[in-house]
Amino acid sequence: MTVDLRSDTVTRPTPEMMAAIASAPLGDDVLGDDPTVTELEALAAEMTGMEAAVFVPSGTMGNQIGLASWTKPGDSVLIEDEAHVLYYECGAPAVLSGVVLRGVPSEGGRMSIEDLEKKRLRGDIHTPGTTLLCLENTHNRGGGSVLSVADHLAYRAFADQHGLRVHLDGARVFNASVALGVDVREITALVDSVSICLSKGLASPVGSVLCGPADFIGRARQWRKRLGGGMRQAGILAACGLVSLRTMVDRLADDHARARALASALTSMPGLSPHDPATNILMVDTVVAADQWQQALAVAGVMCFPVGANRLRLVFHKDIDDDGVRHTAEAFRQIAVTLV
Ligand SMILES: *Cc1c(COP(=O)(O)O)cnc(C)c1O
Repeated sequence: MTVDLRSDTVTRPTPEMMAAIASAPLGDDVLGDDPTVTELEALAAEMTGMEAAVFVPSGTMGNQIGLASWTKPGDSVLIEDEAHVLYYECGAPAVLSGVVLRGVPSEGGRMSIEDLEKKRLRGDIHTPGTTLLCLENTHNRGGGSVLSVADHLAYRAFADQHGLRVHLDGARVFNASVALGVDVREITALVDSVSICLSKGLASPVGSVLCGPADFIGRARQWRKRLGGGMRQAGILAACGLVSLRTMVDRLADDHARARALASALTSMPGLSPHDPATNILMVDTVVAADQWQQALAVAGVMCFPVGANRLRLVFHKDIDDDGVRHTAEAFRQIAVTLV
């Protein structure tokens, strides 16, 4: 048995997705006439309460054309220190938008308003003015941690006070809304734009959607084309995205429950300190080097990544069932005896 907990991007398309691909009406989306892409963009805009949306190949592109469409070169952007946009996107904000990122420290992804105040720059002859606040919910390197609606209200008030736009890296924003038990609009109403991933827990093979005001999405469409992200019969992919948005959101609660189930199984094992998972990402601190754990787990058919010298990250998704959780717990139990 193989249990792939490396990421929620490893999910395979569902039979319903494969059927949707086969019957999707198609056009040329660069020419603007692929009806399935148009339908996906309309649904994503409606679900997030935004005016418009644009389908893009990846979450990275969604974030980067979002930043590019809100800023001009030389602007400064407030962003959490370990945010995906800063940490995992190859310096794209510097390369593509020419902006200065101001990294803000946090507790597991949650920045204080005080720290944001400290890092904000007023534009004058010496300093690049801050024009954008970039948020991430749930927070990847924070272990799938959730910003609450109250957090978002505070960030919105801060942004409004200083005339900043707010972009949300919402790769897993539906994990956040499901964990909080709120409609995702309670979160997205408090940001100016949001990029959501269809290819993570929502299980599509490819794709993200950037949502926001119509004029912003117009600029984003040009940026997408500039970066080579204009896709032709993209309805093939959008058809899967529609299945994701219609049927894969509520079930994210199962992934969260399985992350908690594994955490509680690991609690009693020697040399392991599982964190309390807020959503579908479980961080486990290890006494023995995480690399050694990774190798031993791989032999037992459990795949995961270290995210620090003594920390493993396990990500739950629709292709992990209760048997997968049991198999993983058993692998940890057997390895703990030999490694500790
Ligand atoms: C996965 C992820 C992205 C985008 O990833 P792609 O691989 O480019 O689709 C962006 N932000 C966060 C927080 C992510 O976890």
